Amino acid sequence: MEKRDLIYEGKAKRLFSTDDANLVIAEFKDDLTAFNGAKKDNESGKGALNNKISTELFKMLAKNGVESHFVEMLDDTHMLCKKVDIILIEVIVRNIATGSLSKNLGIPDGKVLPFTLVEFDYKNDALGDPKLNDQHCLILELVKNEAELDQLRAMAREVNSILRPYFHDKGLNLVDFKLEFGRDKDGKIILADEISPDNCRFWDLETGEKMDKDRFRQGLGGLKVAYEEVLNRILG
Ligand code: 5GP
Repeated sequence: MEKRDLIYEGKAKRLFSTDDANLVIAEFKDDLTAFNGAKKDNESGKGALNNKISTELFKMLAKNGVESHFVEMLDDTHMLCKKVDIILIEVIVRNIATGSLSKNLGIPDGKVLPFTLVEFDYKNDALGDPKLNDQHCLILELVKNEAELDQLRAMAREVNSILRPYFHDKGLNLVDFKLEFGRDKDGKIILADEISPDNCRFWDLETGEKMDKDRFRQGLGGLKVAYEEVLNRILG
């Protein structure tokens, strides 16, 4: 399958059309951004690591009954995907308080939450991805109805219930992550985007070391080594 026209460029990926109207090619970029694009860098090989990590996770989720846009990995930096209309809601799943949750609500960093929290952010860079409640989602017509919001929450919890023990077995604590969903050609809501250390937080179970994009956000260095370690643990 060949790349045709560039149809979308985001902060971490480019999307290309193909000769098949129902398939697109995602190219994983080495660009790193944080704080809504205010902090920028480039890490050679980061895109390939995220492509490989996402490929393994989408395959594992498919085996566990979670449908995604993933079709196949084409090469180091390219993934063939089903074309979907992205729902402009970032579905955030949190097992442990950190990041914006600790900052906004004063919940101590590292506190294990009494239950898994699912939140919605508006996928809108111009507005800085603000927090949404259900009524905001309906007023903005981001989904058709309340039942679809419940479906997004249920799918996100299902992904968490698979990923959390999977990573625990590999010595990683799945702290939180962001998912995106889209509608396929039949209107069915499926998982989309990527699942990688760019949009998940992983803490080493033994040392507590951060193994994700917080290394970049917090200027800790060693980002690529951490992403490689996540991939190696996934590959076992
Ligand atoms: P927080 O709201 O604490 O910044 O992020 C919560 C989780 O969602 C983290 O795992 C973070 O990586 C992910 N996340 C939230 N918003 C975004 C976003 O706009 N882009 C990416 N790549 N990840 C996000």
